[in-house]
Amino acid sequence: MLQHNQDLLAHTLAHPQSLPQTERFTLTDGTVVSLAEVGVLRFEPQQPQGADLVLSAGVHGNETAPIELVNRLVKQLLSGVLPCRNRLLILLGNPPAMVVGKRELEHNMNRLFSGNHQRYQGDEANRAKVLEAAVQDFFEARAGERYHYDLHTAIRDSKREKFAIYPFRHGKPWKKQQLRFLANCGVDTTLLIHSPQSTFSYFSSNQFGADAFTVELGKVRPFGQNDPKSLAQIEAQLQRFIAAQPLQLGEDAAMTVFDVAQEINKNSADFALNFADNAANFSEFKQGELLASDGEQEFRVQAKQEAIVFPNAKVATGQRALLTVVPVGPDQPFV
Ligand SMILES: [Zn+2]
Repeated sequence: MLQHNQDLLAHTLAHPQSLPQTERFTLTDGTVVSLAEVGVLRFEPQQPQGADLVLSAGVHGNETAPIELVNRLVKQLLSGVLPCRNRLLILLGNPPAMVVGKRELEHNMNRLFSGNHQRYQGDEANRAKVLEAAVQDFFEARAGERYHYDLHTAIRDSKREKFAIYPFRHGKPWKKQQLRFLANCGVDTTLLIHSPQSTFSYFSSNQFGADAFTVELGKVRPFGQNDPKSLAQIEAQLQRFIAAQPLQLGEDAAMTVFDVAQEINKNSADFALNFADNAANFSEFKQGELLASDGEQEFRVQAKQEAIVFPNAKVATGQRALLTVVPVGPDQPFV
C-alpha cells in the first residue's frame, strides 16, 4: 500500500493499469490523502490556504527527472517532512509508457487534451480522459486560485536547459508574477503561445482559468540517471508552494521571453528538416535560411533571426514538426 511504502513511483510502476485497491488515509496533521486511480494522488489539508496546485509528470512516459522530482515531494508529504497547506493534486501521466521507458505507446498524450482524446482510441486516449476528469474534479471542488505545472524533459539537447511554454490566453495578459516564480525555479526561458493547443497545460488554463505551464526541465534520461541537484531550485520552490510558505521571488532571477514566430506542420511524407538531426533546441538561424521542405513547399526564416524549438520530422502527418521563436515584441500585454 502507498500509505506504508510512501513510494508513489514504485507503486505506480507495479500497478500501471489498475490499482490493487483504492486508498484513503489521514496524515498526522489532518491532511486527507486519497489514491482513487493509478497515479492520481490528492491531498486535502484540514484548513487549506488559497492555492489549488496540480503537479503532473510522466505525460510522456520516459521523461523521468520530473517523475522522480514529484515522487520525492510525495515521499516528503507522506512521511510528514513537508507539511501540506495548499490543496494538491499529483498526477503521473502515462504509467504503462513509464513501465517500458517510452515516450508513448500509441499516441502523443500531450496532443489529446481538451477532449481531443475522443478522436482516438487506446491507452493514451483513455488515460487523457481520466486525467481531465481528475483535474476537473479537483479544481471545481471550490473557487480557489488555480495552478498547474505540467513537468517534462526534452528529447534533444537545448541551448536553454529549462524552459516553460505559456499556453494561449485568448488575449488576456501574461502574468509577470508567474514568470518570476518560474525564473526562481531555475526556469529562465518562456515561450508565449498564440493559438489553442491540445496540451494538458492549455486544458487547465482554458477550461479552469488556471495559471498553467508546460515546463521542460532538461533532457530525457532513464530512471535513476538524473541528478536531483539539477532540479534543486524548483524542488525548493514547490516545497514552499505546497507548504504555503512565502515564495522567494528574487527580482534578479533572469527570464528571457520568446514569441512563437512560425508553427510548421508536416503535411506529407516528403517533409524534411534542413539541419542536423541532433541540432539543439534554441539553435539560431538567419533570415532566408531554409529550415524545412515539404515537397515543393519551402519553410525559411522570416525574421532577422529565429531559433528552432521541438524539431521532429517523425511526427504524424498533420502534426507540428517545428516551432520557431523570436524575442518577444513590445506589443505583448503583461500584468
Ligand atoms: Zn514531454
